[in-house]
Amino acid sequence: MNKIRLSKSTIGQEEKDAVLAVLDKEFLGMGAEVNLFEQEIKAYLNTTKEVMCVSTGTSALHLAVEALNLNSDDEILVPSLTYVASFQAISAARVKPIAVEVCEDTLFIDLEDAKKKLTSKTKAIMPVHYASNAKDIKKVYEFAKENNLRVIEDAAQAFGCINDGIKVGVQGDIICFSFDGIKNITSGEGGAVVTSDENVIQRVKDARLLGVEKDTEKRFEGQRSWDFDVKHQGYRYHMSNIFAAIGREQLKKINTIEKKRKEIVNYYLENLKDISQIKTLDFDYKSIISHIFVIKTSKRDYLREFLLSKNIECGIHYKPNHLLTKYKTDSLATTEKIYEEILTLPCQLDLTKEEQDYVINTIREFFNA
Ligand SMILES: *Cc1c(COP(=O)(O)O)cnc(C)c1O
Repeated sequence: MNKIRLSKSTIGQEEKDAVLAVLDKEFLGMGAEVNLFEQEIKAYLNTTKEVMCVSTGTSALHLAVEALNLNSDDEILVPSLTYVASFQAISAARVKPIAVEVCEDTLFIDLEDAKKKLTSKTKAIMPVHYASNAKDIKKVYEFAKENNLRVIEDAAQAFGCINDGIKVGVQGDIICFSFDGIKNITSGEGGAVVTSDENVIQRVKDARLLGVEKDTEKRFEGQRSWDFDVKHQGYRYHMSNIFAAIGREQLKKINTIEKKRKEIVNYYLENLKDISQIKTLDFDYKSIISHIFVIKTSKRDYLREFLLSKNIECGIHYKPNHLLTKYKTDSLATTEKIYEEILTLPCQLDLTKEEQDYVINTIREFFNA
């Protein structure tokens, strides 16, 4: 068996043709294509909120935090078990990320622990839709309301997912998506900020173009601003037409992508459920498009070694951020225990039935199941 990849981009002729068409137009930066991608995301989500595309999911989170105008001793609650991007986005905006525990069954932010970590400096909470699950987001909004906090959803892994019958991104305060190479849909690299807050909209639109006021509208018309003002720190965080063209084609395929990812996940769930040494996460898998498929087992390191020796790539999402030098804090016992147990199995669009059977049978072999 050839190496079975954990995750990968899957790109068709449509994306290649779309990129060539943009190259032929010789307008590569942020322009009409980005405008169309934003409108099409908006239509897909069926939302009145504004959708603003940026260079990465990390820059989406960074700009969302900056748009809140916080002070450098202000704090944002964030689960430790997330990609370092969530933490970097907060510290890039010179705000303090406060590492919070996650719940054992969902790996979603633990609001009991969040409550313990509240201080007078806490200004926002950043729940992470780990492995695409956002089932308990309503409780986060209740918690935020009680404690007067803003909410920035790290929905990098949750594009296209449904929660309480509504797509992630339609409700809520500020929602950030990622379109990096291996996310549910990709634009090569990319991300989006979704919100209806007028102040945040203006800040994000300007900040993605070096703070140049109202430059977005100009660029969408193929023009530039010559006489302009800048009031805030900005970045080169816009999305290019090339990337938007890839994203537009991917968005057209999202129903097929959803079907395929659900098939893979259901097949794992069905064929691993009788192995008592493995736990799956407590998700409503019918409603989500799984970016990653995570299991828990106390034999994680041995199983991982065994799978690797059989040419099966697997992952650990994630090393908790409070264990990293830059974000080091006191121990978070639950998160550290979970970190020893989690294992991510191959889940990508090119995974064949045969390959998935091989993964499952190798796991069964390991457990003598
Ligand atoms: C992918 C990801 C990000 C960052 O997105 P990029 O587009 O890679 O910058 C942030 N948070 C989580 C949870 C992610 O999975």
